Amino acid sequence: MARYSPSIQNLISSLSKLPGIGGKSAQNIAFHILSMDDAEAASLTEAITTARTSTKRCSVCQNFTDRDPCPICSDAQRDKTTVLVVETPRDVSTFERAREYNGLYHVLHGVFDPMKNKSISDTTISDLLKRLAEHSEITEVIIATNQTAEGNATALYLSRILEPSGITVTRLASGLPMGSDIEYADDLTLMNALRGRITLAGGKKD
Ligand SMILES: [Zn+2]
Repeated sequence: MARYSPSIQNLISSLSKLPGIGGKSAQNIAFHILSMDDAEAASLTEAITTARTSTKRCSVCQNFTDRDPCPICSDAQRDKTTVLVVETPRDVSTFERAREYNGLYHVLHGVFDPMKNKSISDTTISDLLKRLAEHSEITEVIIATNQTAEGNATALYLSRILEPSGITVTRLASGLPMGSDIEYADDLTLMNALRGRITLAGGKKD
């Protein structure tokens, strides 16, 4: 016998599909939502709908944005010669928070993961290659994929494919713990990883 009515059960099971939300948390959130007044609940629903409808990918860097090109790509103060390649939009926020990097980004929206059947076409690597071909002012690509087997395989692939272009390809210095995600790194660790980046292909750094 179900513990809750079908509509509550449905809400709990939808919430429990969200990342990091276990069954217990899903129940807590569901009952919190039910206890909200109508205006609060409407505002939550509207925030989800608005974020989904007004957010698109920047045509240049593929980051999520409300306007295209995104504020970072259209900022004249940013260094247009360097592109930092990250796995997710959250990684962009992590680097922006650290305030160490002033170049541009490229969001892959994934990495190779043969175990999960994820290939190059599941990432935005082809958009990156097109962008590099069209923008000769870009002289360095810094690969900041996570220090995981998939992140490293993606970095290796990128360095090989970019080698003939003469663009310098660098990788964040280790110091970020193996298997950990960039988004959990503290500002100082990120700063050191950026400053100590190692060259994978192409010319010298700096
Ligand atoms: Zn952009």
